[in-house]
Amino acid sequence: MEVSFVGKRALVTGAGKGIGRHTALALARRGAKVTAVTRTQADLDSLLQECASITPVCVDLADWGATAAALQAVGPVDLLVNNAGCASLQPLLEVTPDQFDQSFNVNVRAVLHVSQIVARGMKARGSGGSIVNVSSQASQCALRDHAVYCATKGALDMLTRVMALELGPLQIRVNSVNPTVVMTDMGRLAWSDPHKSNTMLARIPLGRFAGETREA
Ligand code: NDP
Repeated sequence: MEVSFVGKRALVTGAGKGIGRHTALALARRGAKVTAVTRTQADLDSLLQECASITPVCVDLADWGATAAALQAVGPVDLLVNNAGCASLQPLLEVTPDQFDQSFNVNVRAVLHVSQIVARGMKARGSGGSIVNVSSQASQCALRDHAVYCATKGALDMLTRVMALELGPLQIRVNSVNPTVVMTDMGRLAWSDPHKSNTMLARIPLGRFAGETREA
Protein backbone atom coordinates (compact mmCIF):
# COMPACT_ATOMS: atom_id res chain seq x y z
CA MET A 1 0.00 0.00 0.00
CA GLU A 2 1.37 3.40 -0.98
CA VAL A 3 0.58 6.11 1.56
CA SER A 4 -0.39 9.50 0.16
CA PHE A 5 0.81 12.75 1.72
CA VAL A 6 -1.07 15.00 -0.68
CA GLY A 7 -2.05 18.22 1.10
CA LYS A 8 0.41 17.66 3.96
CA ARG A 9 3.24 20.04 4.80
CA ALA A 10 6.35 18.30 6.08
CA LEU A 11 9.58 19.58 7.58
CA VAL A 12 12.59 17.25 7.57
CA THR A 13 15.83 18.13 9.36
CA GLY A 14 19.19 16.81 8.24
CA ALA A 15 17.72 16.49 4.75
CA GLY A 16 21.00 17.00 2.90
CA LYS A 17 22.28 13.45 3.08
CA GLY A 18 21.42 9.92 4.12
CA ILE A 19 18.15 9.02 5.80
CA GLY A 20 16.86 12.61 5.91
CA ARG A 21 17.45 13.19 2.21
CA HIS A 22 15.63 9.97 1.27
CA THR A 23 12.80 10.83 3.67
CA ALA A 24 12.38 14.31 2.18
CA LEU A 25 12.34 12.92 -1.35
CA ALA A 26 9.94 10.10 -0.45
CA LEU A 27 7.52 12.52 1.21
CA ALA A 28 7.70 14.92 -1.76
CA ARG A 29 7.14 12.11 -4.25
CA ARG A 30 4.05 11.05 -2.31
CA GLY A 31 2.56 14.53 -2.51
CA ALA A 32 3.77 16.38 0.59
CA LYS A 33 4.98 19.97 0.41
CA VAL A 34 8.43 19.48 1.95
CA THR A 35 10.73 21.92 3.71
CA ALA A 36 14.26 20.51 3.86
CA VAL A 37 16.56 21.79 6.60
CA THR A 38 20.28 21.18 6.67
CA ARG A 39 23.51 23.12 7.05
CA THR A 40 25.35 22.48 3.77
CA GLN A 41 24.05 24.60 0.90
CA ALA A 42 25.53 22.32 -1.78
CA ASP A 43 23.37 19.45 -0.48
CA LEU A 44 20.26 21.61 -0.72
CA ASP A 45 21.21 22.67 -4.25
CA SER A 46 21.52 19.05 -5.39
CA LEU A 47 18.32 18.11 -3.54
CA LEU A 48 16.42 20.80 -5.43
CA GLN A 49 17.84 19.52 -8.68
CA GLU A 50 16.32 16.15 -7.82
CA CYS A 51 13.02 17.59 -6.65
CA ALA A 52 12.21 21.20 -7.49
CA SER A 53 9.12 21.39 -5.26
CA ILE A 54 11.19 21.18 -2.05
CA THR A 55 11.72 24.37 -0.03
CA PRO A 56 15.31 24.62 1.25
CA VAL A 57 16.40 26.07 4.59
CA CYS A 58 20.13 26.26 5.30
CA VAL A 59 20.99 26.54 9.00
CA ASP A 60 23.23 24.96 11.62
CA LEU A 61 20.74 23.40 14.03
CA ALA A 62 23.35 23.48 16.79
CA ASP A 63 22.85 27.26 16.81
CA TRP A 64 19.64 28.01 18.76
CA GLY A 65 19.33 31.64 17.64
CA ALA A 66 20.06 30.96 13.98
CA THR A 67 17.55 28.10 14.00
CA ALA A 68 14.80 30.31 15.45
CA ALA A 69 15.50 32.96 12.80
CA ALA A 70 15.67 30.48 9.92
CA LEU A 71 12.42 28.72 10.83
CA GLN A 72 10.49 31.91 11.56
CA ALA A 73 9.31 32.23 7.98
CA VAL A 74 8.45 28.54 7.54
CA GLY A 75 4.69 28.24 7.27
CA PRO A 76 2.42 25.69 8.94
CA VAL A 77 3.81 22.19 9.34
CA ASP A 78 1.71 19.01 9.66
CA LEU A 79 4.57 16.50 9.85
CA LEU A 80 7.96 17.02 11.43
CA VAL A 81 10.83 14.58 11.06
CA ASN A 82 13.63 15.36 13.51
CA ASN A 83 16.32 13.45 11.67
CA ALA A 84 19.47 15.61 11.84
CA GLY A 85 22.11 13.94 13.94
CA CYS A 86 25.83 13.61 14.35
CA ALA A 87 28.11 10.90 15.66
CA SER A 88 31.66 11.60 16.63
CA LEU A 89 33.20 8.44 17.96
CA GLN A 90 35.86 8.26 20.61
CA PRO A 91 36.85 6.03 23.52
CA LEU A 92 35.14 7.03 26.76
CA LEU A 93 38.35 8.30 28.34
CA GLU A 94 39.04 10.61 25.39
CA VAL A 95 35.67 12.34 25.12
CA THR A 96 36.10 16.13 25.07
CA PRO A 97 33.61 18.76 26.26
CA ASP A 98 33.31 20.13 22.71
CA GLN A 99 32.36 16.75 21.26
CA PHE A 100 29.88 16.23 24.08
CA ASP A 101 28.25 19.65 23.64
CA GLN A 102 28.07 19.45 19.83
CA SER A 103 26.41 16.03 19.96
CA PHE A 104 23.86 17.01 22.58
CA ASN A 105 23.18 20.32 20.82
CA VAL A 106 22.29 18.59 17.55
CA ASN A 107 20.90 15.22 18.66
CA VAL A 108 18.82 16.42 21.62
CA ARG A 109 18.61 20.19 22.09
CA ALA A 110 17.79 20.95 18.44
CA VAL A 111 15.06 18.29 18.49
CA LEU A 112 13.47 20.01 21.47
CA HIS A 113 13.83 23.43 19.85
CA VAL A 114 12.52 22.58 16.37
CA SER A 115 9.67 20.62 17.97
CA GLN A 116 8.76 23.61 20.13
CA ILE A 117 8.59 25.87 17.08
CA VAL A 118 6.51 23.43 15.05
CA ALA A 119 4.24 22.27 17.90
CA ARG A 120 3.45 25.83 18.93
CA GLY A 121 2.13 26.40 15.41
CA MET A 122 0.10 23.17 15.51
CA LYS A 123 -1.32 24.21 18.87
CA ALA A 124 -2.22 27.72 17.67
CA ARG A 125 -4.00 26.31 14.60
CA GLY A 126 -5.67 23.51 16.59
CA SER A 127 -4.69 21.26 13.72
CA GLY A 128 -2.86 18.45 15.46
CA GLY A 129 -0.01 16.81 13.59
CA SER A 130 2.74 14.26 13.80
CA ILE A 131 6.36 14.34 14.91
CA VAL A 132 8.88 11.56 14.30
CA ASN A 133 12.23 11.64 16.06
CA VAL A 134 14.97 9.60 14.45
CA SER A 135 16.67 7.91 17.38
CA SER A 136 18.76 4.74 17.18
CA GLN A 137 19.27 1.26 18.54
CA ALA A 138 22.19 3.00 20.27
CA SER A 139 19.69 4.37 22.78
CA GLN A 140 19.30 0.87 24.20
CA CYS A 141 22.53 -0.90 23.37
CA ALA A 142 26.02 -0.10 24.67
CA LEU A 143 28.39 0.33 21.73
CA ARG A 144 32.14 0.73 22.02
CA ASP A 145 33.39 4.28 21.30
CA HIS A 146 29.78 5.50 21.19
CA ALA A 147 29.42 6.81 24.77
CA VAL A 148 28.24 10.27 23.79
CA TYR A 149 26.17 9.11 20.83
CA CYS A 150 24.44 6.43 22.92
CA ALA A 151 23.77 8.99 25.66
CA THR A 152 22.22 11.46 23.20
CA LYS A 153 19.91 8.80 21.77
CA GLY A 154 18.94 7.59 25.25
CA ALA A 155 18.05 11.18 26.09
CA LEU A 156 16.16 11.50 22.82
CA ASP A 157 14.01 8.44 23.60
CA MET A 158 12.96 9.93 26.92
CA LEU A 159 12.39 13.35 25.35
CA THR A 160 10.15 11.59 22.81
CA ARG A 161 8.10 10.00 25.60
CA VAL A 162 7.55 13.32 27.38
CA MET A 163 6.74 15.03 24.07
CA ALA A 164 4.13 12.33 23.39
CA LEU A 165 2.69 12.81 26.87
CA GLU A 166 2.43 16.60 26.70
CA LEU A 167 1.52 17.00 23.04
CA GLY A 168 -0.92 14.07 22.79
CA PRO A 169 -3.83 16.08 24.24
CA LEU A 170 -3.22 18.59 21.41
CA GLN A 171 -3.69 15.72 18.91
CA ILE A 172 0.01 15.80 18.07
CA ARG A 173 1.37 12.25 17.79
CA VAL A 174 5.02 11.82 18.72
CA ASN A 175 7.02 8.68 17.95
CA SER A 176 10.60 7.66 17.50
CA VAL A 177 12.16 5.26 15.04
CA ASN A 178 15.26 3.41 16.25
CA PRO A 179 17.14 1.95 13.29
CA THR A 180 20.15 -0.32 13.48
CA VAL A 181 22.99 0.44 11.08
CA VAL A 182 22.09 2.22 7.84
CA MET A 183 24.91 2.54 5.33
CA THR A 184 24.90 6.31 5.00
CA ASP A 185 27.97 8.50 5.53
CA MET A 186 27.39 8.13 9.27
CA GLY A 187 26.92 4.39 9.03
CA ARG A 188 30.08 3.93 6.97
CA LEU A 189 32.08 5.99 9.48
CA ALA A 190 31.25 3.64 12.30
CA TRP A 191 30.70 0.27 10.66
CA SER A 192 32.90 -0.12 7.55
CA ASP A 193 35.57 -2.06 9.45
CA PRO A 194 34.61 -5.78 9.25
CA HIS A 195 36.18 -6.41 12.66
CA LYS A 196 33.53 -4.17 14.16
CA SER A 197 30.64 -4.79 11.81
CA ASN A 198 30.71 -8.60 11.87
CA THR A 199 29.55 -8.74 15.50
CA MET A 200 26.69 -6.40 14.71
CA LEU A 201 25.78 -8.19 11.48
CA ALA A 202 25.68 -11.52 13.29
CA ARG A 203 22.73 -10.20 15.31
CA ILE A 204 20.76 -9.05 12.26
CA PRO A 205 18.72 -11.93 10.80
CA LEU A 206 18.84 -10.48 7.27
CA GLY A 207 22.64 -10.51 7.50
CA ARG A 208 23.04 -7.02 6.07
CA PHE A 209 22.74 -3.42 7.09
CA ALA A 210 19.97 -1.17 5.78
CA GLY A 211 20.98 0.46 2.52
CA GLU A 212 23.14 -2.48 1.50
CA THR A 213 22.05 -4.58 -1.43
CA ARG A 214 21.68 -8.32 -1.03
CA GLU A 215 24.31 -10.38 -2.77
CA ALA A 216 22.85 -12.73 -5.39
P1 NDP B 1 24.26 11.42 7.68
O1 NDP B 1 25.50 11.84 8.38
O2 NDP B 1 24.34 10.63 6.45
O3 NDP B 1 23.32 12.70 7.42
C1 NDP B 1 23.01 13.56 8.47
C2 NDP B 1 22.40 14.82 7.92
O4 NDP B 1 22.13 15.70 9.04
C3 NDP B 1 23.36 15.57 6.99
O5 NDP B 1 22.64 16.18 5.95
C4 NDP B 1 23.96 16.61 7.92
O6 NDP B 1 24.47 17.75 7.27
C5 NDP B 1 22.76 16.96 8.77
N1 NDP B 1 23.20 17.63 10.00
C6 NDP B 1 24.08 17.15 10.91
N2 NDP B 1 24.32 18.08 11.83
C7 NDP B 1 23.57 19.17 11.50
C8 NDP B 1 23.41 20.45 12.05
N3 NDP B 1 24.10 20.85 13.13
N4 NDP B 1 22.56 21.32 11.45
C9 NDP B 1 21.88 20.95 10.34
N5 NDP B 1 22.00 19.76 9.76
C10 NDP B 1 22.85 18.88 10.33
O7 NDP B 1 23.44 10.63 8.82
P2 NDP B 1 22.32 9.48 8.68
O8 NDP B 1 21.43 9.77 7.55
O9 NDP B 1 22.99 8.19 8.77
O10 NDP B 1 21.55 9.71 10.06
C11 NDP B 1 20.33 10.40 10.15
C12 NDP B 1 19.73 10.15 11.53
O11 NDP B 1 19.57 8.74 11.72
C13 NDP B 1 20.63 10.63 12.67
O12 NDP B 1 19.83 11.18 13.69
C14 NDP B 1 21.30 9.36 13.13
O13 NDP B 1 21.71 9.45 14.47
C15 NDP B 1 20.19 8.36 12.93
N6 NDP B 1 20.64 6.98 12.79
C16 NDP B 1 21.56 6.63 11.84
C17 NDP B 1 21.99 5.32 11.74
C18 NDP B 1 23.01 4.87 10.74
O14 NDP B 1 23.55 3.76 10.88
N7 NDP B 1 23.32 5.66 9.71
C19 NDP B 1 21.45 4.28 12.63
C20 NDP B 1 20.47 4.76 13.58
C21 NDP B 1 20.10 6.05 13.64
P3 NDP B 1 26.09 17.88 7.03
O15 NDP B 1 26.49 16.69 6.24
O16 NDP B 1 26.19 19.16 6.30
O17 NDP B 1 26.68 17.90 8.40
